[in-house]
Amino acid sequence: MGGIIICHGGVGAKGRALDDMNSVASLSRDDDPLKTAVNAVVNMENDPRYNAGTGSVIRIDGSIQMDAAVAVPGEFGAVISIERVKNPVLVAQDVMQKTPHIALSGPGAVEFARRLGYGEYDPVTEKARVAYRKMIEAIKDSTNMDERYQAIKKLISDGIVEEPHDTVGAVAYINGKFAAAVSTGGASPMMPGRVGDVPLIGAGIYCGLKGAVVATGHGEEIAKKLLCYRIYERITEEPLNRILMEEIENMGEKLAGVIAISRKEYGFFSNGSMAVDTHEF
Ligand code: ASP
Repeated sequence: MGGIIICHGGVGAKGRALDDMNSVASLSRDDDPLKTAVNAVVNMENDPRYNAGTGSVIRIDGSIQMDAAVAVPGEFGAVISIERVKNPVLVAQDVMQKTPHIALSGPGAVEFARRLGYGEYDPVTEKARVAYRKMIEAIKDSTNMDERYQAIKKLISDGIVEEPHDTVGAVAYINGKFAAAVSTGGASPMMPGRVGDVPLIGAGIYCGLKGAVVATGHGEEIAKKLLCYRIYERITEEPLNRILMEEIENMGEKLAGVIAISRKEYGFFSNGSMAVDTHEF
């Protein structure tokens, strides 16, 4: 048996989340690549330093809505804007394996999770509360939601808001098979219902017979560029590191990072600090 696991803790990662990923890649190792990628994401969802599961960012209406996805060649499962569950990536895996669908969103995703026995869980942390208060302070003169939407649009266009950071993902190639998993609380400031790249196949995640790719960063731009599928399509045409570098350069000013594995190579690249952990065996 042999394999490789790559995990990321988000582009724009700071402090401990950047310096120390607690050997998450080796601790998550299993004979099956999907189990491995999902284990890695669960471990990071449970770590409050990351913006996924426990520690997810709070949206402008005070809610926490999370996105997660898993993929293996020919299969995909996602949850969109799921609330009050501990591990969105496990629900995404159940969507892939136990339903005829590729994604469940909002109340439908929560109901599905409850039916399968996922208990009520509040992922809020003190760090998320502090960040939320800071964000609300920045738009405090906006009293109703309509004004808030205008206010956050202005904050974003003025470039004075926090960049996306600390989201999580993993790709694995084990016993000749690929898998990918990803999970996020989103990018602050964010409207309720906003969907980023994470649960969109080909945008924030892609996995096929040639390899597995996961992205992090500015979700809107990653989705518009279909970043992970573009990278996947180019696998075997050129050295992987060159593909990753060119596709990240193509993101321009928008913060982005990727991790990827093909049958022969693996790599990662970002245009900002990105926490990465790899384990080869
Ligand atoms: N890509 C994520 C999103 O836009 C955020 C991140 O990677 O930090 O939802």
